[in-house]
This record gives sequence, structure tokens and C-alpha cells, in this order.
Amino acid sequence: MLDTRELGRRPGSERQVSRTVAAPADLGIEVLHVPEGSPVELDLRLEAVMEGVLVTGTAQAPLAGECARCLEPISDEIEVRFQELFVYDDHALPEDEDNEVSMLQDDLVDLEPLLRDAVVLALPFQPLCEEDCPGLCPECGARLADDPGHAHEAAIDPRWAALAEIKTQTEQN
Ligand SMILES: [Zn+2]
Ligand SMILES: [Zn+2]
Repeated sequence: MLDTRELGRRPGSERQVSRTVAAPADLGIEVLHVPEGSPVELDLRLEAVMEGVLVTGTAQAPLAGECARCLEPISDEIEVRFQELFVYDDHALPEDEDNEVSMLQDDLVDLEPLLRDAVVLALPFQPLCEEDCPGLCPECGARLADDPGHAHEAAIDPRWAALAEIKTQTEQN
């Protein structure tokens, strides 16, 4: 929660805020997220306007997850930008607008929904350990990036070999 009372509701007054907060739970998507409790660095500008406070800023946070192809753990960083107008809760709004705007609660800004949306939008749908990760061997599950020359001999299971033989004989008869 950010306190905007220092701005005194005077349009044009502004304030820079830098702070580090602990990441809330479930920030991100299942395969790639900001670990709960890890530091999220916020750099914000709060600017009073007629109807509320405009919040513009960036957030930087560590990311952890796993590669969608080879399941290797990924650790990365994310930086997101956001901007949102928070309207004073006693500011009269046209009826059809009040569902879509963010509201200040007693002149406090709740940044969490904003941060959540910005992070989820910025994450790749399928995180990869490297851009051209070759994934896992479909036959033995080995991670192909660790073993580029990986190959299997086209060995036929002896039971299938026996079947193949029977089939050939049948065809000959
Ligand atoms: Zn990978
Ligand atoms: Zn293999």
C-alpha cells in the first residue's frame, strides 16, 4: 500500500518513491513466477491530477521457473512498466465507469493488482532455458542441449523382430 496523502490532493504535485517490497504469493504463472517473498524493486512516480493520483513506474524482480521443453530450472529477471490512474474514492464517477477504474482507498494505493497484471502480461507463455532449446529426447528423455550428438541406433526390440519375421513368412505363403 502506498500513501498518497503527502500529495495533498493538489493537482500537479508529485513524488518519487523507490522501495523494495516482498513479492506476494502467486505472482506470475505456474511455469514462471516471482518467488514469494523475493525482493521486488519499485520505482514510482505519484502525480496528483484532478480526479486522483496517476502512478507511473517500473518493477524489477527475480524470476524462477522451468523450461517448457527440457524442464531445466530457469532463473531470470523481469522488469515491467506500468501506469494507472487511481481515482479518489469520494470522486463522483459517471455510472458506467465505476467498474473499470482503480480506486484509492482512503488515499492509499493498492499496487498489487497492477503489479500482477503487468508481470503476467510480460511473461512468455512458454518459457525456454534458451531460445532454441532442443528439448528432450523422445526415446530416453535425455536433455538434448547437454548432448548435441545424441542418437539412438535404430535397434528393433527382439520381440518386434520376431513378429516382423512371421509377417514376412505369411506374406510369402
Ligand atoms: Zn530447455
Ligand atoms: Zn535418447
